[in-house]
Amino acid sequence: MSKVIDVELRNIMKKFQNNVVVRDFNLQVEQGEFVSFLGPSGCGKTTTLNMIAGFLDPDEGELLIKGRRMNGVPPYKRELGMVFQTYSLFPHMTVAENVAYGLKLRKVGKAEMQERVKRVLELVKLPHVADRYPKQLSGGQRQRIAIARALVIEPSLLLLDEPLSNLDAKLREELRDELKRLHQEIGVTTIFVTHDQEEALSLSDRIVVLNHGRVEQIGTPEEIYNRPASEFVHTFIGKTNRLEGVVLAQDGEGLTVKTAGGLIVRAARQQRAFAPGERVAVFVRPEKIRLADGAAADEVNHASGQLMIASFLGAFTECEVKAGGHTLSVKVQMDGQGMPLTPGRAVNCRWESEDVLVMPAERG
Ligand code: ATP
Repeated sequence: MSKVIDVELRNIMKKFQNNVVVRDFNLQVEQGEFVSFLGPSGCGKTTTLNMIAGFLDPDEGELLIKGRRMNGVPPYKRELGMVFQTYSLFPHMTVAENVAYGLKLRKVGKAEMQERVKRVLELVKLPHVADRYPKQLSGGQRQRIAIARALVIEPSLLLLDEPLSNLDAKLREELRDELKRLHQEIGVTTIFVTHDQEEALSLSDRIVVLNHGRVEQIGTPEEIYNRPASEFVHTFIGKTNRLEGVVLAQDGEGLTVKTAGGLIVRAARQQRAFAPGERVAVFVRPEKIRLADGAAADEVNHASGQLMIASFLGAFTECEVKAGGHTLSVKVQMDGQGMPLTPGRAVNCRWESEDVLVMPAERG
């Protein structure tokens, strides 16, 4: 069976005055997919979402929802559910009235309206707050109600613009899990805007990484994390160590790089080929480096040095190690059997060639 495409962006471009803020945006979102737009502040995430919602019109390109061209079609004719960063509930209406609002506009009969409001409040696990006013709810509850209000109209598409940003860390995580459960349960096609890589990784079927209004990469969380298309994607998606160097050799199995600090790094085969003499940056994630006690001679993928800083963070300890002419960030899992992480101590760092990523040295 061929896949149903719910949303399609074809060469979308948007400018404000002469400032192009979104360019060459191409994307197909399949029915039932959860797609995130991820990128730093100002990269064009909200502008793109607003074009899909109909609050803005693209300057170039075509926007299709369920196969219908939407350029110029006002938001209320798009049958979308939307949730914003700030709670957009009406303060003078009860929760039930807030949730019913979209149904009232659509002239749904009273009995059906009550039934649908009840069902959706159960879906977000808040049936008991129906008669309260928004100010009598916690921040997390308000966002759940905002989600319920978006879902009650049974939208063809759910658009979420940083809905978790105003919540504290714990609530944020709770509501993130809740969103995941909701999506699994109802399967509504969802586009989610965030600058938080963990949110994007944990929730999405696919992630669109944006930088300066351009799509850097579109892929599954696993592809984005393990096979980044650019240095920007790799560094934006999580902490990493970046060592500059020069390619010494390349063969069928991978390549060898000498870093500026004098380390020899061996990397497994990369997505592209490199030539001997080429300037590159090698990357190793902190969690991929193993820390061991004591000094040893430097060898391939092995650097000896000194522990400088150890920050205990509960599930793991983040260490800074001066080794092999570099300062390396190392994430150590605490299992109670490791060595004491005392600053000043002689340590050595090892990693596998499969965990080394190589990119051209130009910062992109
Ligand atoms: P944030 O996470 O900070 O909201 P974003 O990725 O959602 O960032 P957008 O809000 O889409 O970014 O903004 C993209 C660019 O367009 C920014 O440089 C912003 O200043 C600019 N911009 C957005 N809206 C307007 C507007 N109405 N008029 C002029 N410039 C705008």
